[in-house]
Amino acid sequence: MVEALRVWASTHISPSWTLLKLCDVQPMQYFDLTCQLLGKAEVDGASFLLKVWDGTKTPFPSWRVLLQNLVLEGDLSHIHRLQNLTIDILVYDNHVQVAKSLKVGSFIRIYSLHTKLQSLNSENQTTLNLEFHLHGGTSYGRGIRVLPENNSDVDQLKKALQSADLTASHPSNDTCQSEPDDSFQSSGSVSLYEVERCQQLSATILTDHQYLEKTPLCAILKQKAPQQYRIRAKLRSYKPRKLFQSVKLLCPKCHSLQEVPHERNLDMILQDGATKTQDAKLQNTLLYDSKVWTTEDQGGRKVAVHFVKHNGILPLSNECLILIEGGTLSEICNLSNKFHSVIPVRSGHEDLELLDISAPFLVQGKVYHYGCKQCSNLRPIQNLNSLVDKTSWNPTSVAEVLGIVPLQYVFVMTFTLDDGTGVLEAFLMDSDKFFQIPASEILNDDDLQKSVDMIMDMICPSRIKIDAYPWLECLIKSYNVTNGMEQKICYQIFDTTVAEDLI
Ligand SMILES: [Zn+2]
Repeated sequence: MVEALRVWASTHISPSWTLLKLCDVQPMQYFDLTCQLLGKAEVDGASFLLKVWDGTKTPFPSWRVLLQNLVLEGDLSHIHRLQNLTIDILVYDNHVQVAKSLKVGSFIRIYSLHTKLQSLNSENQTTLNLEFHLHGGTSYGRGIRVLPENNSDVDQLKKALQSADLTASHPSNDTCQSEPDDSFQSSGSVSLYEVERCQQLSATILTDHQYLEKTPLCAILKQKAPQQYRIRAKLRSYKPRKLFQSVKLLCPKCHSLQEVPHERNLDMILQDGATKTQDAKLQNTLLYDSKVWTTEDQGGRKVAVHFVKHNGILPLSNECLILIEGGTLSEICNLSNKFHSVIPVRSGHEDLELLDISAPFLVQGKVYHYGCKQCSNLRPIQNLNSLVDKTSWNPTSVAEVLGIVPLQYVFVMTFTLDDGTGVLEAFLMDSDKFFQIPASEILNDDDLQKSVDMIMDMICPSRIKIDAYPWLECLIKSYNVTNGMEQKICYQIFDTTVAEDLI
């Protein structure tokens, strides 16, 4: 097993993946650091302070461990000159002895160093600092090693130290705080006190990638796409506010997004189809038995229903597929409650054919299945004969034999997420995983609509301060979008679901 894992690791993990420069460090991360020791001080018996640098600047300023009553060993004026590039590391327990023995000026590698984001509220300003901890114990290879002078990494480090920009300040210090934006003033931002309350349960959970470390939104906003992140944030607001506006039809092949046809339009398409005369020679075939009704008070409108047989025998109505010619929307709706499946058709030259690709190609209960106009290539109805099982009428199989690329019902929403370090807009495009409610059924089901409204009200209550909103754990991926000359990065939520106790 170990050998197999090694082989896997050798192709999947670059050998230096945990070795980072300070400029690439993110909050809440474990990494290895190659650096030079500038100063050291004993804090108490169980912790020890190391001041180090590697010539690069952290995305957030390092925290400063209070030096009152501490004796700092090292060149104070040198440390002061490098203060923008120096970080403070606290090492604990078994690492204290090693730290004590280190010589100032030596080149060291620290393994499995842990970063945390620290927030300080002073007057009306909030500043973010990075804390560096080397926790006690040796698990995950935690420890400190002195590098020999002839080590190639030391050579590289020396070069970096010589060319370091000593005047550099921390630009991220200003840009990283949530900028006051008029549209957000009313609800206020997540306070950083809240950010620290990590134990609180999340209203959404991950379904995969649990190994990813959390990344603060301000760090994500500064990085290039495409990437995947795990985040913890609150839902400040979302769009659209009306549920029915958020349900769309997605083509899995050409990725086009369409509106769900409105009932009125659907009725018109069906009425158009009803004006065609039904061809008696297409009735009663090997595939189906046919029956024609004439309406009494609607100008003698004729409705033909073709009952699809199974091995030459008519199945029970709850297993039976019917094809309907000249039916109205309400008739189709009624019949779909009684029969397993309904397909609206019309008479073609040699065979019955699908009505129109803007009409549903299959109606099952309350679900209307549509096909993509661009990608579908309609085939004759007689092809239903090639389906072996004529009682289950799986929509995917029906679509396949009729040459249709079925559209998928999806919730499409924009979530404005806030974690106290930044604000980010992410798309949600989901068929049934996020809410654990199928988007295909929601438009015709009041109870499901109530459930989704309740979930949204729970994760974005709007009447109370944002600090009291529940936390959401989400996976988001970034991607580039080009619009003419303009290029921007968008974010999408994936592999995330509403926690079960919320539903
Ligand atoms: Zn398509």
